[in-house]
Amino acid sequence: MSTIADNISQVSARIAAAVRQAQREPGQVGLLAVSKTKPAAAMREAFAAGIRDFGENYLQEALGKQLELADLPLIWHFIGPIQSNKTRAIAEHFDWVHSVDRLKIAQRLSEQRPAALGPLNICIQVNVSGEASKSGCDPDDVDTLASAIAALPNLRLRGLMAIPEPTDDIALQNAAFARVRALQHDLPMPLDTLSMGMSHDLEAAIAQGATWVRIGTALFGARNYGQDTSPAHTAVASSPLSKDPS
Ligand SMILES: *Cc1c(COP(=O)(O)O)cnc(C)c1O
Repeated sequence: MSTIADNISQVSARIAAAVRQAQREPGQVGLLAVSKTKPAAAMREAFAAGIRDFGENYLQEALGKQLELADLPLIWHFIGPIQSNKTRAIAEHFDWVHSVDRLKIAQRLSEQRPAALGPLNICIQVNVSGEASKSGCDPDDVDTLASAIAALPNLRLRGLMAIPEPTDDIALQNAAFARVRALQHDLPMPLDTLSMGMSHDLEAAIAQGATWVRIGTALFGARNYGQDTSPAHTAVASSPLSKDPS
């Protein structure tokens, strides 16, 4: 078995054990493979081992890998911070966006979503760690934002996403995820998605109702941000067009 296939079976076993422990129905928790900084070849291996859903944080890197993997029926999730000038490409090239934290971004995604693709699945990212995080909307604003997004024509609001401050304290992990679930429960519209839990805290997230766990390190190994592993960058660097015209 390849390392990635081996990692996938270990993570799947952790998910299944957590689902049993929480007395939830099997099949309620999806495994979203977070492939940021990892090459298309690693994603191809994950696909061969059964993964269909991939999460990416950086638009240019993701678009490059989408070209390389165009022969595979993958489902693409955007999970990183979103600048306004990136919304068109995200609306055109992704199936899900987990990291919407303000109305302006949602409005642009709705306007720019090609009708032929059907509605774009949206999660609102909520900041449950206060000062510790700059991303995510304030918990006090989730209600207003959710109602506004639910009214936009080309989006389908699915639920909430959160990245609590990392901690080894299981009680604190549970408290943060329980807060996200309570915020979702208090919203006026029915929603079916809670995107929460990463490599180190997926058990607590599942105990508190996660429906997507977003797993990078435990599937693909540690990320090395110093090294440029982006195929898009490699392609540009080796292209004759990028050479100095001398
Ligand atoms: C990188 C990332 C993950 C994966 O984190 P790991 O700890 O590597 O599992 C999950 N969600 C988001 C939003 C990320 O940026």
